[in-house]
Amino acid sequence: MKHLPSIRRPARTATIALASVAAGMAITVPGLALATNSGQSVPAPPANPTSASQIQNVDQVKTAIKGYYGDTTTTTMDPVNGTTALHQFNPDGAYAHETEGIAASADTFLTHEAKPTQKHTGKPAILFDIDDTTLNTYSYEIYSNFVYNPTSNAAFVNAGSAAVFPAVPGMADLENDAIAQGYSVFFLTGRPATQLDGTLANLADAGYNVDPNNVFLKDLSAPWLQSCQTDSNNLPCTTTEYKSLTRKHIEQDLGYDIVANFGDQFSDLNGGFADKTYKIPNPMYFLP
Ligand SMILES: [Mg+2]
Repeated sequence: MKHLPSIRRPARTATIALASVAAGMAITVPGLALATNSGQSVPAPPANPTSASQIQNVDQVKTAIKGYYGDTTTTTMDPVNGTTALHQFNPDGAYAHETEGIAASADTFLTHEAKPTQKHTGKPAILFDIDDTTLNTYSYEIYSNFVYNPTSNAAFVNAGSAAVFPAVPGMADLENDAIAQGYSVFFLTGRPATQLDGTLANLADAGYNVDPNNVFLKDLSAPWLQSCQTDSNNLPCTTTEYKSLTRKHIEQDLGYDIVANFGDQFSDLNGGFADKTYKIPNPMYFLP
């Protein structure tokens, strides 16, 4: 795989200005043909606009995001200073309805089209990304005004609480149904290994049935990731490399067949080693 210059950018710094990119990537990025449920495409703004008319207004985009999620103020205080009430999505809003629809579609696929009893190339499994695929981070995006900061984000993650990061609507039921159907469940996240405890606590609190042995946090020293650390430019693994090589490890070394892969970023889904991919909506940030 080839490294792209964009990997030099720190994760999650490009947020709101690219809000329309995620939905538009399906028609602009090669290798996305297998991504399903990518929603209607909004054209991405050009990388080098020649006129302001080519760019959406950032304040209007923020307003639209809040409308899509159904912004709701809660009584839970922020885990950084404990002084700011957290905002959450409305469980009866457009976002919740859209993710519930995707989860229901995936449940039907797993139950009726890809039953574990059917022939697979390995033990049947499904794989989930975590942030904004299984745990919703809208509260943090509002708290941070859509600007990622690793220190404040870690406080939210380490709270390990569904009152901070609740389940993405429909996904916990999907996960539990898949287990009942005989699938093994894996979680694969770009969160650092230091956030394991908070991650496990949050997933359990949000209703997921988690085998800690099947949770992969980002540890670039893992033996199956060495091939992407030694390219000619000596750059660290891209997200797509980290995730696809870990899926390859799960399939080829651990003997599973990843029947479905769920992610809110195309970098969760590209790179193969899954029979089917599901794109979860996320207009809040874009991770190359
Ligand atoms: Mg994610």
